[in-house]
Formats: sequence, C-alpha cells, structure tokens
Amino acid sequence: MRTRLDIVFLYLRENRSGFNALAGALESSGLEGVEVLLAEDENSLMETVRSSLEKGRRTVIGLSFFTCQSGRFAGLIARLRGRFSGKALILAGGPHPSGAPDEVLAMGADAVVKGEGEAVLTGLARDILDGKRPGSGIISGQAGQGLDAFPPFSLRWRMFGYIEITRGCPFLCSYCQTPRLFGARQRHRSLENIFSLAARMRAEGLRDIRFLSPDAFAYGSENGRAPVPEKLEALLKGTREAVGADGKIFFGTFPSEVRPEHVDRDTLSLTRRYAANKRLVIGAQSGSPRMLEAIKRGHTVEDVYRAVGLAAGAGFETDVDFIFGLPGETETDAELTLKVIADLTGMGARIHAHTFMPLPQTAFAGKVPAPLSARTEKALRTICSRGQAFGQWEKQRLISGG
Ligand code: SF4
Repeated sequence: MRTRLDIVFLYLRENRSGFNALAGALESSGLEGVEVLLAEDENSLMETVRSSLEKGRRTVIGLSFFTCQSGRFAGLIARLRGRFSGKALILAGGPHPSGAPDEVLAMGADAVVKGEGEAVLTGLARDILDGKRPGSGIISGQAGQGLDAFPPFSLRWRMFGYIEITRGCPFLCSYCQTPRLFGARQRHRSLENIFSLAARMRAEGLRDIRFLSPDAFAYGSENGRAPVPEKLEALLKGTREAVGADGKIFFGTFPSEVRPEHVDRDTLSLTRRYAANKRLVIGAQSGSPRMLEAIKRGHTVEDVYRAVGLAAGAGFETDVDFIFGLPGETETDAELTLKVIADLTGMGARIHAHTFMPLPQTAFAGKVPAPLSARTEKALRTICSRGQAFGQWEKQRLISGG
C-alpha cells in the first residue's frame, strides 16, 4: 500500500502566515499522498494526530512559535511527546526554534528547522513518502532562495493570508530577529509573480490583498535602503489591475510597516493613489538619539517627526512603534521617548507600545531588559487609557521581567 502522510499544523492565529507558505510549498511540489490538516487549538491538535495515527497514516506535527510563546509550547511539546513519542514526528520551526534550536530539541521536538522551512518540509515529506527515514535534530533551512520559488498560500488546502513581497533586511537592528532568520540581503518577489498571486486570490473570491515585508516602501530596492518609486508604482498599479475594481490593497500597514526615513511625498502619494488603507505603521522604537544609535536603527528622531507630519499632511493616520526597556535605556532616555510620544500623539499619531524581550541570535540575546520606572509605566497607562496608545507592553513586561 502506498504511504500516506498527514502533516498536522497547530494553526494559531498569530502563527498562520508561515504555515500558509509551507502548505503552498507542499502543494506546488506536486507530492502525492500528502495531506495538510489544521488544528486551531491544542485539544484539536491532540485529536487530529490521534485520528491520523488511527487511520494508519504517517504523521508529522508541525509547530511554529515566537519567543513570547515558548513557555506554552514547552508544555505542549512535553504533552505531545508523552502521548505520541515514536508514533508521530514532532517538527518545530519559526522564529524561536530557529533562534534556539537546541533549547527546542531539549523540550522534546524530534527535529527543528533553523531558518526558512519551505524546501525542508517538502524534502522531509518526500523522504517519508519514499519510505526513507526523515531528518531529525537540527535541520538547516534553505538560504537565500528567491521568493518566486514558493507561493505564500495554498489553494488546495484553502490557506490564504498575506503575500510576502520581501524577505530579509539590511538594517540589523540589535533586538530584531528578521535579518538573522532571513539574511541582510533583501529578496523581493517578482512583479509578475505577485500579480499572478493577487489574481488567483481574486478568482477565489478574496478581495483584500495585504503584503508582508519588513519595510513595504523598500520593495524592489536593490539594497533595501531607499524607496524606488518606479518599482513601488509598478507593484501597486499592477496589483490593482489584478484585483479589479472592487479589490483592495493594504500597503505600509499591518502586517508590514515602513521605516520613517522612507516616508516621503512619493511613497505617500503612491499609497494614497492605489491602496485602501488610511493608516500607516511606522517603526520608531525610541525617542532617544543615544538609544537609536545603540540599537542601530539607522534613522534619527527627526526622521520620525517628519514622517508623522508628512503622513498626516497626506491624510494618513499613523501607528508608531516604540520599545521600552531596551538594554542600557536610562531614565533620561525613557523621558526623551515619552516627550517624543507626547509630541507625536499631539500630531494625531497612535503609539504601539512594546516592552523589550531578548530574542535568540540577535545582538541583544541574553540581555537584561532595563526596568520601566513607575513614572514611565504611569505615563504609558495614561496614554493607553486615552486611546492614544495600545499594545502588549504589560504582558511582554511580565514575560521578559522588565
Ligand atoms: S526592526 Fe525592521 S528595520 Fe530593523 S532589522 Fe528588523 S526588520 Fe529590519
């Protein structure tokens, strides 16, 4: 009898994007005998795995998680191991397993994918279907592959989400995992590929196109350090045509953001002309010039003021990201940030507040968060209560101990 393989993903809302891409890769590989099953919570995961094994299928459990979820996943992996050890393969990937593979193996995963998983998962599925022993331990993902190689969604398994247009980031901010996971060289999906994906989504009745990118305004830029308006216009115009009159494009907003120095008259007017969103997400992270230098952001506080002012002038609302408790942040730095935040909210911006969490393999891995003073905490609570700020900063503070 031919081998049949079930790959069961724990498909939590916050981890879906990577799974959509993995399913897209499996689908485009043309492998026969493989099925992707989605479990939306842990009970459903246990039940789906049990049922798959009962049917005599080979079974892989796919998990992906962020550092802030690692406590929960350690418990889950232990339970999976207790129940399915030796029967189903526990495979972990995504930001935290990629950054701390040994830790996740010690949690009980059979294999951990470090980095990009599309080629690894299709290779592993092929091995299982061919009756070979699948890889275990730490498996290095493909590096530097062009984004056109794999679609970001799966038609067959109805797993849709964002179109990832750019992977990698040249800025190497000290706290950020993106360049460590995907490299410092930006890889852009080709225009033709994006248009064809947008048209396929439209044909499936999906009208909203959201792009995934570390800096949407840098799409098409060779070094990722400056917008190329012609490339942006080609992207937005072509996607608009592909999605038709009742389709909508969301650009420079969730799940992407833009760097403040890339907000200019060209990028704003293109977004206004072709995209539906009235809100932009801008990364600022600190209002202290000293901290911006320390975290290697590569822009100034003035860039942030200018970006918010220009965006407001062009009719956009803005969400501006800030991180409190960065390693080495002093009370003076926090005061400077609060002053900038007061100015920006006065200009109409909304603040997305975060507390620093050390992420594996970043320059700040293992660093201790600077404590938030009572004054900073009170100020954040006040602006949150006025609706001028939002975010998980309190929960993140509890996890990180900041
Ligand atoms: S924070 Fe943004 S700009 Fe900085 S390295 Fe990460 S993705 Fe790049």
